[in-house]
Amino acid sequence: MKHDFILKIAASACTAMLASVAGNISSGAQELNTEVFSLLNLDYPGLEQVKELHTAGKDSAAAVSLLDYYRNRTGISTPEINLKKVRISEKEQQWADDALEHTFFVHYGYQPSFNYGEDIDWRYWPVKDNELRWQLHRHKWFIPMGKAYRVSGDEKYAEEWVRQYMDWIYKNPNVKISKEEYEITDNALKADAENARFAWRPLEVSDRLQNQITQFELFKVSPAFTPEFLTEFLVNYYRHAEHILANYSDSGNHLLFEAQRMIYAGAFFPEFKDAAEWRKSGIDILNREIKVQVYDDGGQYELDPHYHLASINIFCKALYMADMNGFRSDFPQSYLDTVEKMIMFYANICFPDYTNPCFSDAKITDKKEMLKNYRQWEKIFPDNQTIKYLATEGKEGQLPDYLSKGFLTSGFFVFRNSWGPEAVQMVVKAGPKGYWHCQPDNGTFELWYNGRNLFQDSGSYVYAGDDEVMEWRNLFRSTRSHNTLTLNDENLETTDSKTLLWEPEGDVQILVTENNSYKGLTHRRSVFFVDGTYFVIVDEATGSVKGNNNVNLHFQMPAGDVPNSREDMTFYTNFEEGSNMMFRCFGPDNMTMKKEKGWVSTSYMKKRQRMNVSFNVKTTDGLPVRYITIIYPKQEAGKFPAMTAKFKGGYDESGLNLQVKVGGKKKTLGYTLD
Ligand code: MG
Repeated sequence: MKHDFILKIAASACTAMLASVAGNISSGAQELNTEVFSLLNLDYPGLEQVKELHTAGKDSAAAVSLLDYYRNRTGISTPEINLKKVRISEKEQQWADDALEHTFFVHYGYQPSFNYGEDIDWRYWPVKDNELRWQLHRHKWFIPMGKAYRVSGDEKYAEEWVRQYMDWIYKNPNVKISKEEYEITDNALKADAENARFAWRPLEVSDRLQNQITQFELFKVSPAFTPEFLTEFLVNYYRHAEHILANYSDSGNHLLFEAQRMIYAGAFFPEFKDAAEWRKSGIDILNREIKVQVYDDGGQYELDPHYHLASINIFCKALYMADMNGFRSDFPQSYLDTVEKMIMFYANICFPDYTNPCFSDAKITDKKEMLKNYRQWEKIFPDNQTIKYLATEGKEGQLPDYLSKGFLTSGFFVFRNSWGPEAVQMVVKAGPKGYWHCQPDNGTFELWYNGRNLFQDSGSYVYAGDDEVMEWRNLFRSTRSHNTLTLNDENLETTDSKTLLWEPEGDVQILVTENNSYKGLTHRRSVFFVDGTYFVIVDEATGSVKGNNNVNLHFQMPAGDVPNSREDMTFYTNFEEGSNMMFRCFGPDNMTMKKEKGWVSTSYMKKRQRMNVSFNVKTTDGLPVRYITIIYPKQEAGKFPAMTAKFKGGYDESGLNLQVKVGGKKKTLGYTLD
C-alpha cells in the first residue's frame, strides 16, 4: 500500500469535522447542499427546470424542483420494494419502534439489541466482535422504519429517520490517515480514522448504497424529506458510490456484493454524471468474477454453502435490476448458464428439508427462506424443472433423474438413495484450496437420515474480533472439530484434496479422495455407500512423518443422548423420532478413544454442546495408520446389527480391499485405481 504524508480527508468529512470541532452543531440539521448540482447531469431528461433554476442562481427553488422530479419520476424502479404492497413483519415493526429510542437492531447474534444513547454513539462497541461494529453501519432498522412509516402514515418514523441519517453523516467522517501521520496526529482525528475503518469499509458502504434506494422510495413522500435533505442525501449517496469505485475489494464475495450494489446505484440514480460508469463497473466486475469465482461445476470458490447462496443471489439481483430497467442484454447467456449451475449445485448439496450443510463458515438457511429463493429463481429460469419442483414443494416440476452426484472441481460429493425426507444422504467436502470463509476441514461430511442431520458440521459461531472472540472462532473452525483426520490434533497444513475415484452409481458407490494434509502425512479417505443403506469409511494416513506422533480420527456426535462403548468403539443414538444411527470404528490394536466436549453452531453466536470423539493411534515407527468406520442409519434406536470389518492385505496405494460383515451379511469392498 502506498503511504503518502498527506492527510487524506474527504471533502464532506472535512466540513463535518470542522462543524463538530466548532461546537455542538445540531446533529440532525440539514442545509441546502449545493454541491449536488455539480454532481448531477442537469441535461438529464426531466431536469430541465432544475437546470434553469440552478443556472439562474436560484438553488433553493432548484432543490424544490429536484424533489418534485424524484417524487414523480416514472420508468425507474427497484426490485427491492413494491410501494403498492408495503408489508411489515412483527419483527420489523419492533426494530422500527426500538430505533425511535436508539435501540438498534444490528445483529441476530446480539439480542436483545443494544441502546446507542440519546445522543447516538456510533462508536459504541459493547462486545469486541468486528461484525457488531461493522454491521451497525448497515442501518438494518432504516428500512423497517420506512415500512412502519408507509403502513402507519405516522410521520415520527420519517422525522427520526432523517435525524439519524444526518446524525450518521456528521459523526462518521470518512477519514483516512497514513501510518506515519498516525504517529503525530491528534487523538480526535485518530479516533475518526479508527472509526472510519468500520463505518467506511466498502462492504458496509455498498450495503448502504443498496438499502438507501429502498429508504429513498419509502420516505420520499414525507414532509420530513425536505428539498434540503434531498440535496444532503444525494451528495452523501454520491460519495458512497465514488468510495466503492475507488476501493473495490480485491476478491471474494465482498467484491460481488459491491459490484451488484454499484449496478443498483447506477441504474436507480441515472441522473448522476457518473451513474453510467458506476453501473458499467459493476456489470464488468460481475461478468468477470462469475468466471473467476465459480468453478465449472457451479461451486463458488469460497467453498462455503452460505456464501455460495449469497453469490447466487448477488448474480440474480443484478438480473432483477436489469430486467426492471431494461438492460438484461448487458449480461451474456453464459452468465445465466453459470447462475443456473450454481443453483443446481446448491439444490444437490442441500438436504430434503431445504437446509444446507454448515461447512466452512456457513449458517443454516431455513426452508421458508429457501422457498422464497427458489420462487425468485424460478422467474429467471422458468424452464428448469428442479427449480420449479423445489419452488412449489413438489406440486409442479420434477426432481433430477439422478441420485448421487459429484462436483469434482469444487470437491463436493453427494451420496443419496432418495430425494425425499426419508433419504440417506451424505455430503462430503474435499476440494481445492478455499478462501477466507473456507475452513481447514477437508474430508469432512454431513449425514442426513429420515428427517435428522446426524452429523452436522460444527459451523462457525463467530467470525473475527478480540482474543476472546478469536478463541471461539479458532475452536469452531479447527480441523479437529470436523469429521476428518488430524496429526496431533493440529489444523491441516494443506487443504487441497484430489479425487482419485468417484463412482456414483450401483449397489456400492465409492468416493476416494486424498489430501496432503501435513508435511509427511497424506490422508486418503475412501467412502463406500453400500446398498443405499449404510456407509463404510476407510481412512489411511501414509507418509514419511517420523517420531512420536498421534494420528487422530475425529467425529462429531449429534447433540443429545449418544451411549457408547469404549470396549467395542461403538456409539449409537437413542432418539425417538425415527432417525438413529450406530457407529463403529475399527483400528490398530493400540487405538484408543477420547471423548471431549464439542459444539455445534448453525447461526451466529448460538451454540449447543455435543460430544467430540476421536480415535487415536500413537505412532513411534511411522505410518501407515488405517481405520475402518461403519455408520449404519436406522429408524428405531437399539437393536443395531452386529458389525465387523477387516482389511484384506496391507496398505497399497493402487487400491484397497476389505471385508465387512453387517448383521451377518458379508460384503467385500474395494477398488483398484487406474
Ligand atoms: Mg466447519
